[in-house]
Parts: sequence; structure tokens; C-alpha cells
Amino acid sequence: MHHYSGVAERIRTIISSALYGARTLVFPELCIMCRREFVEICLSCKSRWFAPAEQLRFSVAPTYSVIPYSEDVSAIVLLAKEERNKVAQSLIAQALHQSITQLLERTATESCLLIPVPSSRQAIRKRGESFLHPILNRVISLQRATRKSSNPQWIWQELLRHTRRVRDQASLSPVARASNMESVFSVIAQTESHSKGLSSGIFDLPIVVVDDVITTGATLKNAIEALRERKMTVLGAATACASTHQFLIR
Ligand SMILES: [Zn+2]
Repeated sequence: MHHYSGVAERIRTIISSALYGARTLVFPELCIMCRREFVEICLSCKSRWFAPAEQLRFSVAPTYSVIPYSEDVSAIVLLAKEERNKVAQSLIAQALHQSITQLLERTATESCLLIPVPSSRQAIRKRGESFLHPILNRVISLQRATRKSSNPQWIWQELLRHTRRVRDQASLSPVARASNMESVFSVIAQTESHSKGLSSGIFDLPIVVVDDVITTGATLKNAIEALRERKMTVLGAATACASTHQFLIR
């Protein structure tokens, strides 16, 4: 009896591991971007996020971006936003790092303060902290890993907030978008930031405004203007993706 149940146990183990093998054969993971290759992210998709950054047509401040926004690109942005997907986060971080590096090279600057465009209040309520935070942490790690000396410093700090509710930009025309975004940002009082344990020195650093995507540029324009109104030095902006018309030769 004892001998018999031992055999049954072994058979059960063999069957369940065979079933597990069959399951992974039937449902292997597909590239999260193109869904064509059986890898988490295929090389041709990945390389698009490693392309050199280009200066965009957006002219409120020098702005760089890496990858033209399309359906497969938006899938990655959504994965980073909605699911905090680690691969998606690292692709966006890679592109952002590239854009910031180009901007700093062009302006012969080394250290900077990265200011993310804040998520809407609704998004923060829904998903907790801004989805850009873990991405910015990755950007800083990339900079630490690649910098030539310990001098140049990149720091990120949440410094903007929404002053009022904005409607979802996607449903609006470009003109409506511009007015929808007018003076929607205010600068968080520095005394308030100090209470979170920040040194005042970081506000002397030139600012790079950071966002995942730029389309019309209305959001970035408002973010930059809110900072300039407070006499802050905005060097430029950096995004990972941009709508194709932003990439057209200036
Ligand atoms: Zn792919």
C-alpha cells in the first residue's frame, strides 16, 4: 500500500511537470511591443529606444526625444503606466537618458535638476505615485553608471502640481487642448519642498522638464512657463517619445 502511493505520487509529479511544460510551449511570452517574437522584448523593438535623440520642432525651449509615437510605442507607455512593467520602464528610461544627455551636450551643461510633468490628480488617485518616478530613478542610475567623473549630478524633484482639474487631452482638438492646459501648473512652494528634507542648493541647478510623450507640446509649454514665471532657469525639455510631426526637420 505504502509502495503503491509512492508510485502514484511520482506519476502525479511527472504529469504536472509535463503539463507545465506544455503550457509554456502553448503560451510562450511574446515581445511586449510588436507581439511577433517569442521574447519579452525583441531586439529590433528594443533598439528603437536606444536610437540617438533628436531636437524637436517644439520651440518654447530646446527639446529632445528619441522615438516617434505610434501604436506599438504607446503599448509600452501604457504598460509602464498601468502595470508598472519593468521592461517598459527601462526602455522609457533609456530613451529619456539619451534625450537629456543630448540636451546637456548641446548646452554645455553637466548637472541638472529633472522636473517631471506631474500626473493628473485623478491618475495619482488611481495609481498612487506618478508613473514617472520609478522611471526617473532608473534614469539617475543610468547617469551614475555612465558619467565620466563624479562631478556632474542629475537629481529629480517633483516641483509642479496641477492647479485645477484638466479634461483628458486625448478627446480634445489642438486648440481646445491649448486652452485646456492654460495655467494648469503651479510651482510647489520651496518651503514646502524643504519640509520634505531637500537642500535649497538643488534649485540653483538648471532645469530639464521631463515627460514620457510630447504631442502638441501644450503640456510642456505650460510646465516650462510655470517654472519661468518663478524665475527658474529652464534649460530645455526631454521626452522619450514624440508625435511624428515633432521630428520633421526644423
Ligand atoms: Zn518586438
